[in-house]
Amino acid sequence: MNDVKLALQPNEVADYRDGLILDAAQRASRYLKGVRERRVAPTPEAVAGLDGLKGEMPDGETAADVVLEMLDAFGSPATVANAGGRYFGFVNGGATPAAMAANVLATAWDQNTALRVMSPAATVLEDTALRWIRDLLGLPPGSGGSFVSGATMATFTCLAAARQALLAAQGWDVESLGLFGAPPVQVIVSEEVHIAVKKALGLLGLGRDRVLTVPTDSQGRLRVDSIPKITGPTILSIQAGNVNSGSFDPAKDICAAVPREHTWVHVDGTFGLWAACSPEYARLLEGFSDADSWATDGHKWLNLPYDCGILFVRNAEALHRAMSLEAAYLQAGTEREPMQWGPEMSRRARGVEAWAGLKSLGRAGLAAMIERTCRLAKRFADVLQAAGYEILNDVVINQVLVSFGSDTLTRCVIEAVQRDGTCWCGGTVWHGRYAMRISVCSWVTDEHDVDLSLAAFIRIAREGKEEAKFASPIDARP
Ligand SMILES: *Cc1c(COP(=O)(O)O)cnc(C)c1O
Repeated sequence: MNDVKLALQPNEVADYRDGLILDAAQRASRYLKGVRERRVAPTPEAVAGLDGLKGEMPDGETAADVVLEMLDAFGSPATVANAGGRYFGFVNGGATPAAMAANVLATAWDQNTALRVMSPAATVLEDTALRWIRDLLGLPPGSGGSFVSGATMATFTCLAAARQALLAAQGWDVESLGLFGAPPVQVIVSEEVHIAVKKALGLLGLGRDRVLTVPTDSQGRLRVDSIPKITGPTILSIQAGNVNSGSFDPAKDICAAVPREHTWVHVDGTFGLWAACSPEYARLLEGFSDADSWATDGHKWLNLPYDCGILFVRNAEALHRAMSLEAAYLQAGTEREPMQWGPEMSRRARGVEAWAGLKSLGRAGLAAMIERTCRLAKRFADVLQAAGYEILNDVVINQVLVSFGSDTLTRCVIEAVQRDGTCWCGGTVWHGRYAMRISVCSWVTDEHDVDLSLAAFIRIAREGKEEAKFASPIDARP
């Protein structure tokens, strides 16, 4: 049966492919129609159904329509309903309709975005989206920027530029010579630094643990008065949007307190930087534009499809020096060549969906999306507090940390909520206490989703308490 499709004549192949694409679109549409009604975490039976996709590498061909049917039959039910509006785990957004549709079209375009000559469309969309984002976030106009796979790689790229500039100022060409024998670069982070920054430091040879760690306050903000005296080349990483509390480091005071001639201030603004798009929340970003580099994500609060990190570096030349390379066959022109501004060469045309998502929302739509998610986070906090549960953070943006009582009870509630399927939330440890993390990031989420989820939390927490239903001693380790 399988040879048939591949033995088709070219004109028949086109018909067959068109049919497949329409079939994929119909399946995607059916999936999205059902995703708001279904449980958020897949059932154990659906996960067990993935066995249908395991097996061995087949010797023979499988017709593409059969492949698609298998993906939909076994894969779709075992997905997490991220697209449904009641996924509050980690910091995961959805994908807006324009961004999702653009992603489908971009897949058909199949553009390589290493060089302009490979795709004028992809590079112009990417240049334009980068310019829009830089302006939306209030970052310096001369900054260099790039799209990468996510904020971890955005951080890596920013810190590579920092390493370049700080060592070049010491007369050391780190791209050519590496770090062996190089003058030391001090790295300062806060005790609330995201592990992504640590990972980037490790990849760059700067060391995950070779850092000075500055204490933070009750909300996880870096304490300016605890920054040690800076005497030599230093990278200081601060954050806009703590991954648990959503808090913002006091960027203005930090930037004023350190010797800028040899201190590179980097901002992990993976989701928090987007608060800059709302007139109501922009005040939280005071001073962040004084930094030297910024890493953020399109695939979190901006609600673009996954695989979208974004970075900007004030000293564009340092970024370019750290990332550019030449070869006779690489036809670089005089305009911005994507591969000279980021770590990757061949890659997806990430700017297509970024452009589409931004174009469709506009400034007003983006501000409304940020404000709505923050308002819904506040609703979670207010109702839970009124029901007698403790909110552990000041809810400044879209993040809520809640304790249902003891660590054990909170843990049990989180596990029961995940099993229940109305919504999905994860857990964390905040200042020594176990907490449920609620992150409202999706453009889909509305009041009804929040109220359904609240009803589930409260029902589960009360059942747990009154009936000692969670009596089985689950230990309280994080
Ligand atoms: C998600 C997150 C990261 C890592 O981003 P990825 O896109 O997953 O690489 C880094 N910092 C913060 C604050 C985050 O929320």
